[in-house]
Amino acid sequence: MNLHEYQGKEMLASYGVKIQRGVLVEDIANLQGAYETLQAETGTDFVVVKAQIHAGGRGKGGGVKLAKNWEEVQEHAGNILGMMLKTPQTPGGLEGPGKLVSKVLLTEDSYAPDFDACKEFYVSIMMDRGKKKNVIIYSTEGGMNIEEVAEATPHLVHKEYIDPHLGLQGFQLRKIAFNLGLSGAAFKDMCKFISNLYRAFLGSDASLFEINPCLKSANDEIIAVDCKVTLDDNALFRHPDLAALRDKSEEDPAEVEAGEFGLNYVNLDGNVGCMVNGAGLAMATMDIIKLSGGDPANFLDVGGTADAERVENAFRIILKDPAVKCILINIFGGIVRCDRVAQGVVDAYNNMGDQINVPIIVRLQGTNADIAKELIDNSGLEVKSAIILQEAADLVSEVLG
Ligand code: GDP
Ligand code: MN
Repeated sequence: MNLHEYQGKEMLASYGVKIQRGVLVEDIANLQGAYETLQAETGTDFVVVKAQIHAGGRGKGGGVKLAKNWEEVQEHAGNILGMMLKTPQTPGGLEGPGKLVSKVLLTEDSYAPDFDACKEFYVSIMMDRGKKKNVIIYSTEGGMNIEEVAEATPHLVHKEYIDPHLGLQGFQLRKIAFNLGLSGAAFKDMCKFISNLYRAFLGSDASLFEINPCLKSANDEIIAVDCKVTLDDNALFRHPDLAALRDKSEEDPAEVEAGEFGLNYVNLDGNVGCMVNGAGLAMATMDIIKLSGGDPANFLDVGGTADAERVENAFRIILKDPAVKCILINIFGGIVRCDRVAQGVVDAYNNMGDQINVPIIVRLQGTNADIAKELIDNSGLEVKSAIILQEAADLVSEVLG
């Protein structure tokens, strides 16, 4: 689950991470109050108006604007609130429809009063699965696209791995601050910043933090100016306060609906719809589709009880994706018997009538697989069946042509 910038910053602040102060505005009627609050807190008229959507690169798309007075605040907030913001990260990129902005964050201008004395860094934390350790990735080249920095100047991107038993050590904090070229008060504040940031990462069960830019202000304070926070969905039950921050309007509607049906669904780019029981088998199915020259349109784990209702819901969700050209159903009957699942497929197919307009390939293996194949073959439906997974993959290649 992703957080909005304003939510992420509030969470970081609760761990003592210094953030760019801000006030959220959802209704333009509250704009003046928010501006006056910030003026009083910061003692300046300069503020930044920032679109709140789940995508980065907002600055490039016109979703982050500096305002020097009340007139400019009104102008920028008026333009940004309600706009369809296109960034390189919104669906379809700059060519796509963009995302509707329904909230803006009015923040202090952290670069005032001396823009030239400021310095922008990049800091992120994530898990490196290969190394089985969390890693802090940081760079002096903040504020820009880190992928481009890593491509052009890889020596400017540093990594610090954290031993899970020892935790983040003092010498590691000092090494980071040193490599970022800091000294004096800024050096100390960076150590504190990274230490608190890491506590927040562990404390919130996050899978990704990205602070870009992380700012050294004119008075040597280290501040999170932007933040991207991704939380581990599987740990959300431990954080009801964070789980409550979920903004479903920012998520893929098909994924939200699948979640309501208890189906584990992730939309992908290909054209072969997949309906599978078990996450491991779902991944193996996607692999074999790829190896046979196809491209999976989704990951879908229907779970242990693949009855007619679940199969029907799964069909509906897969078919929402217009790119789907055929559907591969791959079920292993362990606890659930294959013939029950086969009956579920037949019933769902019959219930849905002509809504299913792509070829279906069913591979059932395990308990009562033979009976299940017979059931499908004798159902009179336009369904091809297989018992061996490779056969099913070959059928997929065949129907795709
Ligand atoms: P993103 O484009 O979605 O990554 O949004 P950011 O929050 O990172 O803002 C984009 C850019 O706006 C940053 O890289 C900064 O250069 C600039 N920016 C953000 N906050 C401030 C601020 O308080 N003052 C000034 N002068 N620039 C800012
Ligand atoms: Mn940013």
